Amino acid sequence: MVDVLVIGSGIAGTAAALALHKAGVRVSVHEAHPDSGADIGAFLTLAGNGMTALAQFGADKEVARHGFRLTSMRLTDGSGAEIATSPLGRAEDPLSRYRCMRRAALCRALRSEARRRGIEVRHGRRLASAVETAGGVAATFSDGETVEGDLLVGADGLGSVVRPLIDPGSVPRRYAGQNIFYGYSTRADPPHTSERIEMIRGSASSFGYAVSPEGETSWFARLPGDELPTAEINGTPPEHWRRHLLDTLRADTTPAADIVAATDGPAMVTNAYDLPVGGTWHTRRMLVIGDAAHAASPATGQGASMALEDAVVLAKALRDTDSTAAALSAYDRLRRVLVEGNTQRSAEMTRGTAHRGRVTPPNGSALKGDQHLDRHMAWHDRLPVADT
Ligand SMILES: Cc1cc2nc3c(=O)[nH]c(=O)nc-3n(C[C@H](O)[C@H](O)[C@H](O)COP(=O)(O)OP(=O)(O)OC[C@H]3O[C@@H](n4cnc5c(N)ncnc54)[C@H](O)[C@@H]3O)c2cc1C
Repeated sequence: MVDVLVIGSGIAGTAAALALHKAGVRVSVHEAHPDSGADIGAFLTLAGNGMTALAQFGADKEVARHGFRLTSMRLTDGSGAEIATSPLGRAEDPLSRYRCMRRAALCRALRSEARRRGIEVRHGRRLASAVETAGGVAATFSDGETVEGDLLVGADGLGSVVRPLIDPGSVPRRYAGQNIFYGYSTRADPPHTSERIEMIRGSASSFGYAVSPEGETSWFARLPGDELPTAEINGTPPEHWRRHLLDTLRADTTPAADIVAATDGPAMVTNAYDLPVGGTWHTRRMLVIGDAAHAASPATGQGASMALEDAVVLAKALRDTDSTAAALSAYDRLRRVLVEGNTQRSAEMTRGTAHRGRVTPPNGSALKGDQHLDRHMAWHDRLPVADT
């Protein structure tokens, strides 16, 4: 039985542990954060392909409890005029329904499912280094402890420690040219239809919001601008960001500015990054998945869903091949075209070079119903591991 060390208990790492466990692999998860409770990060939209991936390892129902359903997306312009409304998911397939939830809630749901199944998830375990040995891989943590396994899976996000161990020439990350603001409001009462996410293509911003059945509005705004240094993000009073945002949003006649003005707590800010495509994802005994391998700017809203797909394909690759090397090369071949296509599409949308007339739901909808992807996902179908 293969023994896998997963580094990082975000979405990719915890999902991979669940899928690997289901495939009969012995797995432990090592997470740098000392505890899992902090509500860090924005809300996200889990697309139909993400929900389908969750179902393969039986976590869809637990996750669905932590968010609310989205069945359509409406796109309007800065004057409030409708550009288009499109359905999200396939009406005949309940699994393809979208969910809106906080990233932290998704992580908590996955971790509690992992614990329930007896998977070891250790917190306060920061990977410091890893080396391949004759028979496997040895991971050393910042507390000095070294653990051995057959395979190390780096699910340690954009700032991955594992990625440069695999690919010493890899670039750390690439600024995507946008600052992202987000927040939540129970006091705003914007026009909305239940189960619909509203996207506003403003004159100088992209804005999105969805209202939960309880009446809480989750919103984000993406504005072009220079990369904000961490010290500036941490040292600037939150009220400054709110004013900065309002100055931009008030130029349009949309509900965006009123939603931001009614935000409970601070408007949070971060930079959008991605990774250039074409990097090396694996050696003989180490692999990167999720954002550590293929972080995309947030425009397509596929990062979490793609991380969940990674988990399923990795587990099936190890299940359906007779060596770790064969599994890793099958994984690389099957995942690369999809995730790198998403990174490029998202970068085009972020730069504004994507076709402006086209409505692209935040979901990589081109993938819906893709027969290859469906086959890669379906747990009981053998993965097409041979290079045909
Ligand atoms: C503002 C914003 C909005 C987004 N909206 C969406 C959306 O709507 N839909 C969507 O699908 N995606 C969205 N995303 C992207 C999505 O959040 C990510 O793609 C997804 O979280 C990837 O998860 P991951 O597990 O690969 O990485 P991460 O979530 O970054 O998790 C990495 C984990 O590894 C841990 N770690 C790091 N270093 C070490 C180490 N040395 N040792 C041990 N542990 C370590 C970290 O603490 C963390 O827990 C958004 C992202 C942003 C920034």
